[in-house]
Amino acid sequence: MAQKGMMVILSAPSGCGKDTVFREIQKVRSDVCESISATTRTPRDGEQNGVNYYFHSKEEFEEMIENDEFLEYVSYAGKYYGTPAAPAKRMIESGKICFLIIERVGAQKVMKRCPDAVSIFLMPPDMETLKKRLIKRNTESDEAIKSRMKIAEDEVKCASLFEYTVVNNELSKAVEEINEILNNELKKRNM
Ligand code: 5GP
Repeated sequence: MAQKGMMVILSAPSGCGKDTVFREIQKVRSDVCESISATTRTPRDGEQNGVNYYFHSKEEFEEMIENDEFLEYVSYAGKYYGTPAAPAKRMIESGKICFLIIERVGAQKVMKRCPDAVSIFLMPPDMETLKKRLIKRNTESDEAIKSRMKIAEDEVKCASLFEYTVVNNELSKAVEEINEILNNELKKRNM
């Protein structure tokens, strides 16, 4: 029998390494895929439209909101971010584990709308390490780092709202833990 797909919400403060963790999971299993979000923020060096994000103007994004195209959307650090609903639905129907790699407010909206979704919060080992990672990443201005750190402090306080919490101290351990969660959740759904 074909595997039943599922939705996985992976949330973490900016700079916590959720994209790296996801890429490692992709290396060890072929049944995972990622929902590509839409955003109004400007692309960073090397980011490609349709690969990292769908980059839109504010007007385009607001039209998509009007057309009810999003499973969830938020305003984060002054920009819109949203999960297009149709592609995620299609991926799950085709038996995939569809990851939504999103911030906490959007994650909570999805939890309400899709109670079957598995929710995982990735924690930084501590706030100082998170700040160092954000600085080292060198993608944000000092002002943006301050804003992201402030959001991160609030996000970490909400970790208990998620079904699972995984600390990203050692990458391989975090990946192993998430892989085990996926296997257990798949087993439940495919019994
Ligand atoms: P960044 O600008 O660093 O790419 O993303 C900023 C934050 O927005 C990250 O925490 C990222 O996971 C989150 N994010 C990306 N796409 C979405 C989305 O579609 N919805 C929500 N709610 N958050 C998103």
